[in-house]
Amino acid sequence: MQLRNSHLTRLGQTVFDALVVGGGINGAVSAAALSGKGVRTALIDRGDFAGFTSMQSSNLAWGGIKYMEGLEFALVRKLCMSRNRLIRSYPSTVQEIRFLTTVARGFRFHPTTLWLGAWVYWLIGGGFTRAPRRLQRRALQREEPIIDVRQALGGFEYSDAYLHDNDARFVFGFVRSALDRGCIAANYVESLGGRRVDGLWTIRARNRIDGTEFTIRARTLVNAAGPFVDEHNALTGQVTRHRHAFSKGVHLLVPRLTPNRRVLAFFADDGRLFFAIPMGARTCIGTTDTPTDSPHVEVTDEDVDFILGNINRRLRLDAPLRPTDIIATRCGVRPLAVKASEDVARGADFMQLSRKHVIESDAASNHCSIFGGKLTDCINVGDEVCAAVEAMGIRIPHPDHRWYGEPDDSVRREFLHRSKLMDLDGLTSPDSSEPLTSRLWRRYGGEAFGMLEAIREDPRQGEILIRGTEYIRCELQHAARREMITTLEDFLRRRSKIALVVEARALRESAGLMDACEILFGSGARDAFEAYFASGGN
Ligand SMILES: Cc1cc2nc3c(=O)[nH]c(=O)nc-3n(C[C@H](O)[C@H](O)[C@H](O)COP(=O)(O)OP(=O)(O)OC[C@H]3O[C@@H](n4cnc5c(N)ncnc54)[C@H](O)[C@@H]3O)c2cc1C
Repeated sequence: MQLRNSHLTRLGQTVFDALVVGGGINGAVSAAALSGKGVRTALIDRGDFAGFTSMQSSNLAWGGIKYMEGLEFALVRKLCMSRNRLIRSYPSTVQEIRFLTTVARGFRFHPTTLWLGAWVYWLIGGGFTRAPRRLQRRALQREEPIIDVRQALGGFEYSDAYLHDNDARFVFGFVRSALDRGCIAANYVESLGGRRVDGLWTIRARNRIDGTEFTIRARTLVNAAGPFVDEHNALTGQVTRHRHAFSKGVHLLVPRLTPNRRVLAFFADDGRLFFAIPMGARTCIGTTDTPTDSPHVEVTDEDVDFILGNINRRLRLDAPLRPTDIIATRCGVRPLAVKASEDVARGADFMQLSRKHVIESDAASNHCSIFGGKLTDCINVGDEVCAAVEAMGIRIPHPDHRWYGEPDDSVRREFLHRSKLMDLDGLTSPDSSEPLTSRLWRRYGGEAFGMLEAIREDPRQGEILIRGTEYIRCELQHAARREMITTLEDFLRRRSKIALVVEARALRESAGLMDACEILFGSGARDAFEAYFASGGN
């Protein structure tokens, strides 16, 4: 809480060059890029960072193979290049993964057409990933015995990438990077709107933890409120050429279906691509694509039936998956940028709506709005927001600074060397086959050196704290100091993915969770614990 409190004080005291409203992926990269290049930046979110859409994605950094059907080759090329850049810049976090795709008899495309499509996709992506591979029915069965090949004509395998530690953790990495470069940021601070006074945006803000209100002043305003961009524009009197349409997407987490680290891809009954994605000891199945009017959505029985029905019809499991097998759910809306004048009818094919992002600036009021966007395209969004802010007259002191990416490989090698000297290499948690050191590096980068130091001084810091998870004591200490954890859910669902992989009941009983709460919340531990489980624990 100390970190948040000190930032709250400074939010009201400084005149910023840029105030970013919304700490999902678009706001987080905007803040990281602006502050990395030396712009005095503030970032607020009315919930937790990545607490809305950016924690509900499919966790993929992908070129959008499915958009080829709509002949959106320019978009696919752009997304493939963004994916490649993410893989290069975050080698331990954004990793290539194979998609084993089954093609059913009677599908609208012949397997040969789809296989050729996979090659075109690979070429559009600059041949950056492993090449596609075609599989006959028997090979498909051999490689992944749980696939029900009785109705299959064959399949193929191609590559994209996935976010190893979950979308919300990835987003927080940008928030942390912004904080490290002087950004003043706070979660649970809502913008109530505002106006320009004497050349400055004067925004009323409310601290949603204690209800207090204060004013934030900035020369430019970046509206990164995701599905609430239009709502926030109404609060500041902005009229834009674009607006959002929403499409709901649901994922279900179930026990791990296959030990292989690859995505199983199918075409669902509605003809759309449909995935079973590995997530630690679980599998994440989805997604749906349903037009909706409101950003506030929830999982319905119909969604569950659709997802479980589709997966059960395509796999040969000992017993079909049932609703009782669901460990956690993910549900959100894709904010899709459409022209303000465009009438998107309810029955319209949302797959035909472009998934491109649009950054719309108004130089007269020093304001920009970010519409649409994808996690995959986040580096471009950061760069484009910097360009928009500069065009509004804000000086960028360090325009060439590279604001994203993991530390240099030599730093990683030094980290691994030091951990080897400490003999930490062999430490793995019972729930993870991954050595502790690579996990620490992936999650914390250069900050993991401090953890080695802590373990050297007190070996207890290297012990698993919350039973049934892979989190060690010094990670909790680090989270308490550096990750602005305000509620238990911030830690369990977003800084970590514990809430997605451990059932709420097991988690409540897990030895060590109360110790973790004491580290995170001190004397407020019991209240934080009770509040989390009272709200359903996910
Ligand atoms: C089901 C699904 C699957 C997806 N899969 C992928 C994928 O695999 N790969 C990919 O690249 N993309 C994927 N996407 C798209 C991607 O997740 C979203 O486009 C992206 O997360 C949107 O980020 P955002 O920052 O615009 O919005 P958000 O993450 O929603 O962030 C906006 C933030 O603004 C805050 N806010 C709103 N109003 C205010 C206010 N008044 N004051 C302060 N804060 C405010 C909110 O609390 C919120 O945290 C998927 C999306 C969905 C729904």
